[in-house]
Parts: sequence; C-alpha cells; structure tokens
Amino acid sequence: MHKVYLDHNATTAIEPKVLAVMMPYLETQQGNPTSQHSFGRHARTAIEEAREQVALAIHAQPTEVIFTSGGTEANNMIVHGAAIKRPGSVLIRSNIEHPCVARPIDALTHQGWQKELLAVNEEGVLTKEAYTKIKSNDISLVSVMLANNETGAIQDVSLFKDFAKEKKALSHTDAVQAFGKIDVRFDALGIDAMTLSSHKIYGPQGVGALILNKRMDIEPFIYGGGQEKNLRSGTENIAAIVGFGKACELISESMKQTSINSLVLQKTLELGLKELGAIIFSENINRLTNTTFFAFKNIEGSTLLTALDKKGFAIASGSACSSVNKEPSHVLLSMGVDEDLARGALRISFGTKNTMDEVKLILEAIKKELHTLKQLTAIAA
Ligand code: PLP
Repeated sequence: MHKVYLDHNATTAIEPKVLAVMMPYLETQQGNPTSQHSFGRHARTAIEEAREQVALAIHAQPTEVIFTSGGTEANNMIVHGAAIKRPGSVLIRSNIEHPCVARPIDALTHQGWQKELLAVNEEGVLTKEAYTKIKSNDISLVSVMLANNETGAIQDVSLFKDFAKEKKALSHTDAVQAFGKIDVRFDALGIDAMTLSSHKIYGPQGVGALILNKRMDIEPFIYGGGQEKNLRSGTENIAAIVGFGKACELISESMKQTSINSLVLQKTLELGLKELGAIIFSENINRLTNTTFFAFKNIEGSTLLTALDKKGFAIASGSACSSVNKEPSHVLLSMGVDEDLARGALRISFGTKNTMDEVKLILEAIKKELHTLKQLTAIAA
C-alpha cells in the first residue's frame, strides 16, 4: 500500500543530511563535553558549533541558546524559571497554548501563583482587546504561542511584547510550530524568550532549545553539574544537538521555497475540502501555509481518520499530544466552535516532500469515505 504522510505538525522524518552528521557521534567515543581531554574538547566543540547554527537560523546570539530535551522541556523551563523568581505572581497565557505551557502554569496555581488567560477571537487570534481585559498587575510571565499547532493561526507578537513590557513581565513565545515555516527572528521580535523543537524541522526527536535574552535571569530548571549556563544540568545529548544544529541550517535554506510549495497544496486541498462540504477553521487569517484544520458536520473525526489510516493516509485529529484524548480540541472550544463540530476536527499538515498528486489522492479518499459514512448513517437512521 502506498503511504501518504500528512502529519508534519506532529513530527517530521529525519533529513538524511542531518542523520549523516549525527552518525559519528553515535558510532565512536566522543567523550563527555565537560571533560578536559581531547575527546571531551571535541564533544564541546561540536555542541558549540550546533549552538551557532541554531543561533544563526533564529537570529539570536549563540550565548542565548540553551539546549533542552525538546519543546516541552523548554516551555516548562521558562514557566518555572520565571515564576520561581517572583513567588505568588501572576502567569499569563493565551487560552490556546499547547499543554506543555498550560499545564505547568496550572500546576503552579496550586502552589501559590495565579493565572489569567488571554482569550482568542472566533478565528483563533488574540486582538488588542484581549490584552485590555487583563486586570492583574504583579505579572511575571506572558506566554503566547507564535503559531498554533492545530489551526496554524499566527499571533501578532508586537501586541504581547508591548503588553509584557508595560507590565514589567518576561515575554515568551512558543515558536515550535512557526520555526521553519515562517521567518522567525528572535532579535527583531524583541521578546525575552522563545521555544524551539528539533523534530518539527526534520531533526531528531528529543532535543530543542530555549532561546533566552542574555539580560534575562531565570531560576534553573534542572539542578546538577551546571551545564547550559547552569540552567539545565545534565550531560548533553551530543548526537541530537549536532543533528538539531544541522536541521536548523538546512531549514533556513529551504524555508521560503517550502512555504510557497505548501501554499499551492493548501489552496488546492481547501478548495477540494470545501466542495465536499468541509468547514475550514481559522480560514481567513494569517496562518501557516502547511496547516489545514477542518471538519464535516455530523461526521466523527476519529471515524474518518481511522478509515483514511486504513488506506495509508496519516492525518491528525486535533493536536498530536491529545489524540488519545476523546475531548474536543480546546483550541476550537476557545474559538467558540460548537462541541459536536469540534469533535469532527481533523488536521492535515504538509511537509517538504508532499506533492499535488498526494493532495488529489486524499481528496478522492475523503470523498469515498464520506459517501460510505453517510450511507451507513442513513441505514442506521
Ligand atoms: N509546542 C507546540 C506548539 C507543539 O506543537 C509541540 C509538539 O507537538 C510542543 C510544544 C512540544 O515539543 P516537543 O515534542 O519537542 O516536546
């Protein structure tokens, strides 16, 4: 069976050139980067070169890159690191953040901190009005994701940057989905912290980074030997870090062309889906060109997903991390989408290698499945 992978917001396949630079670090003794002998120095050099590659791709200083085990850890690191500096303060986030921002904030509300949420509008965007509704004052962190993993909606960073500045709070964006799909420049955005993940950009899983403005002081997340400027102790995963660095270099080179290619695929896909009766979420706003989040009225998303999976098409229902969860997408509920329609939500996310033929194939497959499902519903009724 020919398989078609259309779930790149969940994870991407490792790029062969990335794997090639990682292999020597898996096959031979590299030493511990903290060791002073030649093996250790070699490992240290590899990490510092990767740090430069990440910094270059994101327009930050190498000293601002803190390697982590991925986006989840970087998000937890900034939430805890900012909160612990100001006990009892208020943590602000949007109501569509990924669980790895939302849950650490929720956990802290049981330990003396407060939270307040910024509410998106019906298209999944934070407008100026959302910020004016925030009444708290002692705010330590404002965290707003750059691009949403489900809808692809892109937020206006200048709004939350200005708001955070006015409140003397640390500003952070989760750029895990945006990086590699739109031009992301840490220096130009003027925010204090940003989260990246390697496996969304054709790098290995289990590595990412927190980009932290060098003037910012946060509490360490993991204590130990003092690696990563004392903020994240633990012997570094050298092969993964080297791979992440290479993936950053490659994605910077290909990003522009890839986003144009996926825009062409997205337009054809969405036209076809609408002809079949689909509702496209966040359709008319600035969003990622690789992401389409949609639903058909009275069709269970998981039923359609399973039927397509049997035919070799890999797509997602809601966010990857919550796809075992039967609850409707919190992003759609925050946008005021009806619960039944939200339960039908499916996501197609393109990658660098998807083709127009694959778009035509999935549209054909969806058409057939819808026909079958509607017949079954008619018989049951
Ligand atoms: N933030 C967003 C927006 C994501 O989509 C994801 C993963 O799906 C993460 C954070 C978590 O990143 P990681 O898988 O590297 O822990």
